[in-house]
Formats: sequence, C-alpha cells, structure tokens
Amino acid sequence: MIDAGTAICCLIGDPVEHSLSPLIHNAGYEALGINFLYVPFRVKHIKLAIDGIKGLGIRGASVTTPHKASVMEYIDEIDEVAKKIGAVNTIVNNNGVLTGFNTDYHGALKALEEVTTLGGKRAVLIGSGGAASAIAMGLKRNGVELVVLNRTIEKARELAKLVNAEGFGDLEQLPLVSSADILINATSVGMWPRVNDTIISKDLLPDKLTVFDVVYNPKETRLLTEARDKGCTVVYGYKMLLYQAAMQFELFTGCQAPLPAMEHTLTEALEGERHASYFDRR
Ligand code: NAP
Repeated sequence: MIDAGTAICCLIGDPVEHSLSPLIHNAGYEALGINFLYVPFRVKHIKLAIDGIKGLGIRGASVTTPHKASVMEYIDEIDEVAKKIGAVNTIVNNNGVLTGFNTDYHGALKALEEVTTLGGKRAVLIGSGGAASAIAMGLKRNGVELVVLNRTIEKARELAKLVNAEGFGDLEQLPLVSSADILINATSVGMWPRVNDTIISKDLLPDKLTVFDVVYNPKETRLLTEARDKGCTVVYGYKMLLYQAAMQFELFTGCQAPLPAMEHTLTEALEGERHASYFDRR
C-alpha cells in the first residue's frame, strides 16, 4: 500500500520508457515486503530534478542517459570511483545530502568475477562510451592488462589514457583478441532491433576466451551465441544490469537485495520481450 510512509526511489533520464530498472527494483521491494516504490521520470532539466529529489525527500535515484556526467555538478558528494570515471548512475539522499556513485563499475566486475579471476589476465575492451569507461576502470584497478579498441580511435586513446591501459586502437586491431583471455563488447552493436549485427567475426574468437557482452537486449546476443559455439565462456549483459541494480537497491534500502526475485523478473521480461514499464504492466 502506498501511504505517507512510502519511500520513493526513481529513475531520471531521457528517454526512460524502455528501462527495466522499475521492474527490477519494485520486484525487490515486493519480495522483501518493504514500503518502497520506484518510479521512472523523464527529465529534461537535470538541476530541477535534483532540486526535486531534495524537496520531495526522494530516497534515491538511478541516473541514466543523458545525465550521468552533467548531474555531477549538482550533487553534494561523489564517491572516488564515480569521480574518476566521470559518471554518476546512482544518487543516495541522506537527510538532504546527495551522494553520487557508479554501480555499473561494481556490477560489471561482479558479473565477470563469477566466471574468471582478473589479476594478470589480458583483456580487449571494445567501446569507449559510458559503459566502457566504468568497465575499463574496474579492469585496470583489478590488475588486468588492457587494450581499448573503438570505432572512433580518438575516444579509445582518451579512455586508455584515463585508466592507464596498456594500449588502444580502432577496430582494425580486433585480431589482437587471439592472444587475450577476456573480450568485452561495450558498444551497442547487437542490441535490439539490430540483433543480427555483431562487433567481431566469430573466426577471430579463440576457444579459451571469456566473452562478456554488455548488451542485454536481447539476453543472448549473436556475439554470445557464436562465442558459445566456439567453446568460449560467456557472460551475459543482464548480469551486469542485475548486479548494478542490486547495489543501488542496497544503497537505497539498507537491505540485502533479494537477487533471485530480481533476476527472475528481469530475465522473464527479457525473454518475453516485455519491455513495458512497471505501470504499464499493472
Ligand atoms: P555510449 O556512451 O553511447 O557509447 C556507445 C559505444 O558504442 C561507443 O564506443 C561507440 O563508438 C560504439 N558504437 C556504437 N555504434 C557502433 C557501431 N555501429 N560500430 C562500432 N561501434 C559502435 O553508450 P553506453 O552507455 O556505453 O552503452 C553501450 C551499450 O551498453 C548499450 O547497448 C547499452 O544498453 C549497454 N549497457 C549495458 C549496461 C548493463 O548493465 N549491461 C549498462 C550500461 C550500458 P564511437 O565512439 O565510435 O561512437
């Protein structure tokens, strides 16, 4: 029941219609029976939204495109990892003091560490946008030897410099994956509706590779299907989404996230291609 005691959490971004965050967070609240509600807000003016979070006493917010960098100017404190990455995807409101975090960093690491150790491994990361920046920072801070490749080489150069990667290049350098332990696709290539696209030919994938695709819609991308066919270990993008949301959940509620309930709701939505918002479902 929604009443004066309901703690409100929200998503701020533009667009927000297809976000799965409301589903995941509300499934967690329902599973624990706690008086929380998570709502998506389409936000044009980030400063007004931040004032609103304070004014209305909203407990926490997920931040998505295009506000992850611009929001940093308007909050009170930023944790060290988010500051270094230059992106905040989570805001916690503690009695009017807003603190920013980057849970993508932690979510990606947790998804990878389920299947492999990181220290001393060699990784090729494709992409240099928001997701790639969080992952690159996580890999370098955990002792990975990293090469960043991107369609636009200048952005790969910038990201490699930011995180002290061992190398960078454009997509002509993809054959470097033959000597890597881990390959990460952090581009949007393969994302619905262009599900037949893939960032790398399967002929370039060695069989001992761990392949992590951050794309989560569809749940199984062409890259992951082909990697599995080659005998690679695969990591689903939805795992990163789940674990970053679970960390947000814990920051917002102070409760341990009920992962099975949150994962069930997320995978059901992805498998059923039901990307409607929480309110559309009801
Ligand atoms: P972004 O900041 O816009 O970056 C997009 C990246 O994709 C850039 O490196 C861009 O290269 C590259 N790219 C786009 N189209 C390409 C193409 N046709 N060929 C080669 N490279 C291409 O986006 P983002 O926020 O990092 O998101 C990237 C993907 O990660 C999206 O699919 C998003 O849904 C997913 N994601 C997943 C999670 C998760 O939890 N699993 C979290 C965040 C994001 P240029 O620099 O050359 O443009």
